[in-house]
Amino acid sequence: MRNFLLASCVSVIAFMAGASAQAQQIHMQAKPTQAVSHGAVGSALQAAPMQLHGNAHAGWGYSGEYRASQWGGTCSEGQAQSPINIARYLQEDLPDLGLEYQDSPLVVVNNGHTIEVKFELGSGFHIENVPFTLQQVHFHTPSEHYLDGAPYPMEMHFVHMAENGTLAVVAVMVKVGQHNNTIEGIWQNVPGEGQTNAVPMVKINAENLLPEGRDYYKYIGSLTTPPCSEDVIWHILKEPVEISEKQLRAFQSVYPVNARPVQPVNGRMIIGD
Ligand SMILES: [Zn+2]
Repeated sequence: MRNFLLASCVSVIAFMAGASAQAQQIHMQAKPTQAVSHGAVGSALQAAPMQLHGNAHAGWGYSGEYRASQWGGTCSEGQAQSPINIARYLQEDLPDLGLEYQDSPLVVVNNGHTIEVKFELGSGFHIENVPFTLQQVHFHTPSEHYLDGAPYPMEMHFVHMAENGTLAVVAVMVKVGQHNNTIEGIWQNVPGEGQTNAVPMVKINAENLLPEGRDYYKYIGSLTTPPCSEDVIWHILKEPVEISEKQLRAFQSVYPVNARPVQPVNGRMIIGD
């Protein structure tokens, strides 16, 4: 079961949470096992030019015949899909997110669609007293959500899951500015495609990837990757964090574009602080 968790990102979590048979199909197409190395493999982000074949994984990607407009099932039929453009919203006092993140040994996965950092149990937050545990953080460029009609260069997704399988994502926008040490620690340990790099001597705390301000928008949407399962609780932080131009380019040398286009809001309520 551990390999299942390592094998892919949100789609596999959705499968484990008892999502649709389609999720299972995606899972079966993913590699069941991964080469796990323990440090000292260098970083795929430094070994440019990287071969760009991430788009062909498991029959979906972001360009060509696998592009997002060709994703089927809930991705094309769902009425509450993510990402969205957040332009108009209902202003309301939202509860503090109360994110409580702990140090976790660094595990970086290059799954063919994105770079993902795994977290061991112990980090998370509560929604109406229900605990949600941080599973992983991954990256999209450009951002998937738009704020007031415009994207950011990058967006991070902090994926949390409740015991009943409900997913809650905290999204953090990324803009170009100061060098980011926490990001650097991740980038330095990115393995080749389809591989996992466990670096137990290095600890990471997801807290260090968050901005100071924690005001957010909230709405109900979906996974932004197949199978696009719905009922995902989204929290989009208003304040971005910064990474350097060089760090942005390093990610884009492996994944030039891995963002799903914005989807129709269809009358959904978006609440903001
Ligand atoms: Zn994502």
